[in-house]
Amino acid sequence: MKDLMPINGLFEMPALPYEALGTIISKETLSFHHGKHLKAYVDNLNKLLPGSGLENLPLSEVVRKSEGGMFNNAGQVLNHAMYFEQFSNTPKAMSPKFAVLLERDFGSVEAFKKEFEQKGTTLFGSGWVWFSADAQGKLVITQQKNAENPVTMGLTPLLTFDVWEHAYYLDYQNRRADYLAALWQIVDWAIVESRLC
Ligand code: MN
Repeated sequence: MKDLMPINGLFEMPALPYEALGTIISKETLSFHHGKHLKAYVDNLNKLLPGSGLENLPLSEVVRKSEGGMFNNAGQVLNHAMYFEQFSNTPKAMSPKFAVLLERDFGSVEAFKKEFEQKGTTLFGSGWVWFSADAQGKLVITQQKNAENPVTMGLTPLLTFDVWEHAYYLDYQNRRADYLAALWQIVDWAIVESRLC
């Protein structure tokens, strides 16, 4: 996973590599989600870092070592950095080699997607559905509340769908399942697969 490194003790806004994602995620949603929600998490984290003893650590280390407000904001910066990075208007398809890993651990690529969507749909309240690798390389799907990230469980996070309402309400209103099902069209598997190393 590509980690975020602070510059002079502070984190910069993770880039948004596109303005809109076709009909899947609108420009309006992205402008609020990246420009307002993520911006607030970055600003709050940078206010909490000085004097915390966690300055100058990579972001995933801040997430592992913090709690309370610091954890919530650091977690949300890491989660959103991964979320926005993994999508593209010209997404790369899954490699046959990676599909074999999904078949090994989930039976089929379709079964994996179905379980991922189901875990995203049934997560109560705000949170994230995550696809990760454990220390032995086994692929797992987890439901995580609020700002949680699988790095705190010793997992390597590969892919995540944000199920906070702010991620989809402008485009899909209450139809979270439709939002989750649509996201597969913009997942760049080259990025997801690169996180396994
Ligand atoms: Mn979000």
